[in-house]
Amino acid sequence: MTRLVQKFGGTSVADLDLIRAAAGRVKREVDAGHQVAVVVSAMAGVTNQLVELADSVSAMYDAREYDVIVSTGEQASAGLMAMALQDLGVPARSWMGWQIPLNTDDVHGRARITGVGMDELDRRLSSGEVAVVAGFQGIGSGGRITTLGRGGSDTTAVALAAATGAERCDIYTDVDGVYTSDPRIVARARKLDKITYEEMLEMASLGAKVLQTRAVELAMKEGVRLQVLSSFNNSPGTLVVGEEEIMEQVLVSGIAYSRDEAKVTLTRVADRPGVAAAVFGPLAEADINVDMIVQNVAADEKTTDITFTVTRRDLQRAVDVLEKNRDHLGFGDLLSASDVVKVSVIGVGMRSHAGVAQSMFKALADRGINIQVISTSEIKVSVLIDEEYTELALRALHGAYGLDAD
Ligand code: ADP
Ligand code: ASP
Ligand code: MG
Repeated sequence: MTRLVQKFGGTSVADLDLIRAAAGRVKREVDAGHQVAVVVSAMAGVTNQLVELADSVSAMYDAREYDVIVSTGEQASAGLMAMALQDLGVPARSWMGWQIPLNTDDVHGRARITGVGMDELDRRLSSGEVAVVAGFQGIGSGGRITTLGRGGSDTTAVALAAATGAERCDIYTDVDGVYTSDPRIVARARKLDKITYEEMLEMASLGAKVLQTRAVELAMKEGVRLQVLSSFNNSPGTLVVGEEEIMEQVLVSGIAYSRDEAKVTLTRVADRPGVAAAVFGPLAEADINVDMIVQNVAADEKTTDITFTVTRRDLQRAVDVLEKNRDHLGFGDLLSASDVVKVSVIGVGMRSHAGVAQSMFKALADRGINIQVISTSEIKVSVLIDEEYTELALRALHGAYGLDAD
C-alpha cells in the first residue's frame, strides 16, 4: 500500500461543485489502491476576508487572536471535503491542526512546524480511511491555535507527506504546473516538466507564490517528491526533484517577481566604520527584515547614501525606527517609496556560466527601464525597478533568455 498526500488550494475548493470534483480526484487515488491524506485550504477569498476583519477591529491586534480568526476558513473546507467524500462512498474524517496534533512554535501568524503526531492518523490511514486535514493551522506549545503564514497549506501538505512516508505530495492548484514565469502575466511562459528544489526555493522566495517557500524548504530537507498540477484539467504537472534527476541544465529556468517590496534611502550618512551596523542594528532589533542593500560614496567622499528594501508591511515601522534614531545616525534625508517591484532571474546553470547578469541589464536598458538596486547569489540575479514596468520587464527578460513558448 502506498501513501499519497493530495492538497487542494483555495481556487480548487472555491464552491461545492469544485469540492465534489476534488473529492472525485481523491476517490480515484483511493480506488487505485492508495492510502490518502487530503489537505485543504480555505475556499478562495475567505482567508483575505478574515484578515480584513481582524485588521478592521484593530490595526495592532493580538496575534494569538488573529490566528483564531484566520484559521477558521480551513475548518469549514475540511468538513465539506469529508462530507463530499462520504457522499461518494469513501470513508473519510476531518482533522484540525490541534487534533492531529500538528505541533508548531509560538510565532503566531507565521509559525513553524515542530512535529506531527502520527499515531492516530497512521492507524486511520492504514484502515483505509481518508484523513482530511485542515491546512495552514497548527497548535503552539501553550495549546493555542497557530497559523503557518499565507500560503501555508502547502507546508501542511509537505509535513504530512514526510510524516506519513507518502510516495508523493500532489499540490492541486489553478495552473497546471510551475511555469518559466507567472503565466498570468507572461502569456508565452512555458510549463516545466521538472524543476530542482533549489530553483523552486529561489522562485518561491522571490515571489512565485505557486508554492510557499517553507513548503519547498521542507520538501528538500525531507526528500519529499512534490508535484504541482491542475484541479481543472488532467495535463501532467511539474515535478520538483533533486538536481541529479535533471539531465540537461538550462542557464535560466525561471523569472519571478515580487510586489511586496518597499525602498528606503538615507542620504548623506557619514562614511565611517560602524555606520551600516548603526543603521541596520535597530531595524533587526525591531524584527524588520532587510533584503537588498546598496551603498554609494558621495562625491565629497565624506558621506554616503544607503538604499535598502523591506516588505511593504514593514515600511512604516522601518521609517519610524530610523526617525527615532535620526540624531544619533545623523543622516540628511529619509526617502521612502513602495511603487517598486523586484524582478529576479533564476537558474542553477548560472553557477558555471558568466554573463547572465549582463544580459539582464542589457534587456532592461534596451527598454529604458532603470535599475535601482541589484543583488545576486549563486543561482539568481535580482533587480529593483519601478512597479510600472513589471509586465514589460518580465516579458523582455523571458524573451532575452530564450524562454518564450513558440
Ligand atoms: P492556491 O490557492 O492553489 O494555493 P496560489 O494562488 O497560491 O494557489 O498559487 C497559484 C498561482 O501562482 C497561479 O495562479 C499563478 O498566477 C501564480 N504563479 C506565480 N508564478 C508562477 C509560476 N512561475 N508558475 C506557476 N504559477 C505561478
Ligand atoms: N488559506 C491560507 C491563505 O490563503 C493558506 C493557504 O491557502 O495555503 O493564505
Ligand atoms: Mg497557495
